[in-house]
Amino acid sequence: MSSLREKLRVLEELQQIDLDAHAARQGLDAIPAERATLEARVKAARKAYDDQKARLESNERERRQVDTLLGMDRDKVKKWEGRLGEIKTPREYAAMSREIDIAKKSNETQNEQAKLLSAAAVEIKAALEASGEALAEVEDAAQAAAAKLDKAVAETEAELASLAARRATAATLVDAGLLAKYENIRKRRAGVAVAAVIGSTCRGCHRNIPPQLSIVLQRVNTIETCPNCHRIIYSHDAVNPPAPPPAA
Ligand SMILES: [Zn+2]
Repeated sequence: MSSLREKLRVLEELQQIDLDAHAARQGLDAIPAERATLEARVKAARKAYDDQKARLESNERERRQVDTLLGMDRDKVKKWEGRLGEIKTPREYAAMSREIDIAKKSNETQNEQAKLLSAAAVEIKAALEASGEALAEVEDAAQAAAAKLDKAVAETEAELASLAARRATAATLVDAGLLAKYENIRKRRAGVAVAAVIGSTCRGCHRNIPPQLSIVLQRVNTIETCPNCHRIIYSHDAVNPPAPPPAA
């Protein structure tokens, strides 16, 4: 079996691997929501486009109706005007003239309506074109973003596989009891089971440890836990002695 110093280094490595894996899994967990956001954006842009299309269709329907009415009234006026010459009595003539005036007025109203509808159609067509362009842009952006997400998923899954392999190797380097202790603390302490002590401060809880415990940690021959946060602690300097100065 490896020395305690080496075991502590392995625990440190396990800790880093577990934190990295946790972050990677969180990244994966966030992806469905990101995909849903992209889909919602496309859906909204498509709805805006469909709404303009529906407006244009309704405008065209109305224009056809007005055109039909206009045509019918024009025919009526023509027919009646043709008959005016055949009318014998002034009373009949007056009555027919009145009918013709009413039909002409109605024609004017429909002409106005047709003009308004044509003007609206120009505006709607411009809006339809703009929303069509916006839809294409949103679809392109969403497609690119989705491809990026696919790539991120593949990369994260590869990273998780590599972390799992490294973890399996690291786990063989510490004895089962210590590994179980590590797992147990990790579950209870927000994923962080091991903390370095720098100076006399536990980096897990940022509280000072008793001076006597500091001295014990310097020896690196027992597994100690922080009296405050109960994480496995080690003296950073004792476990990672500074590299010897480069040869002159
Ligand atoms: Zn602590």
